[in-house]
Amino acid sequence: NVDAHVVYVPVSSRHFLVMALLYDITELKEIERMQMDFVGNVSHELKTPITAITGFIETLLQGAMDDEQTRVEFLKIVYQESLKLTELVEDILSLARIDSKPQLNIIQLDLRDFITDILTTFKPELEKKTIKVHLQIPVGCRVNVDKGKLQHVINNLVQNSIKYNHVDGQIWIDGKIRKEDWYLSIRDTGYGIAKDEQERIFERFYRIDTSRSRQNGGTGLGLSVVKEYVEALAGKIEVKSQVGVGSTFTVTFPLEIKDRLR
Ligand code: ADP
Repeated sequence: NVDAHVVYVPVSSRHFLVMALLYDITELKEIERMQMDFVGNVSHELKTPITAITGFIETLLQGAMDDEQTRVEFLKIVYQESLKLTELVEDILSLARIDSKPQLNIIQLDLRDFITDILTTFKPELEKKTIKVHLQIPVGCRVNVDKGKLQHVINNLVQNSIKYNHVDGQIWIDGKIRKEDWYLSIRDTGYGIAKDEQERIFERFYRIDTSRSRQNGGTGLGLSVVKEYVEALAGKIEVKSQVGVGSTFTVTFPLEIKDRLR
């Protein structure tokens, strides 16, 4: 992709110097395309719940409200769709925050205690699906990291390991400090992800099997935000998965993040 500018420089009354400036705009065009796609996707994702909300409210106001059963059923749908909107807006705000606040706030924290605290917030969801969590992180495992960003990453990965898991499923959370890095892995006994989808799930708005995903709720933004946060922490994220068996998401971070980013 090339953009050209032609400049005529007069060198005498009868002669011009013709200069052609060529720019490679492949990358710019790609960014422009991605931004357009993003705006298009966001609009679509916002419109779908809004259309449902207005449609159901309209029907209620036109008389469906008089029937108690219909009223409750429609209000439940309106409520679910509003929750979807909230979730979507929160995810979009997280993405905007990554772009606007690149600085990190590195502190030392105890990984085992930190995850234990996060897990308490998932207690109701875990009990609802009777999912058992095995925490396999050594006592006194202290790491240097941006607490807010790590919390966001763990929240999303744990949320998915519950959402895409079976009733009576299991989750293993492993973590360890190694010689040059530390890692955290979250393994579930859920639906699993096919090989050709494993790269794509990190794309913005990408969701597998819309009917099952719709049932579970979600925006398809979660893992793309996770990936951006992990990379902001100089880390990397990997997925290993087998359909019908389960998935393992592993994040790996350097030990001395401050030094790496300075
Ligand atoms: P969301 O959960 O909002 O759809 P994500 O970006 O978090 O968006 O995930 C993208 C897709 O990847 C999900 O729709 C789901 O199909 C798949 N996925 C994510 N985590 C898991 C998991 N632990 N097990 C199976 N599928 C998963």
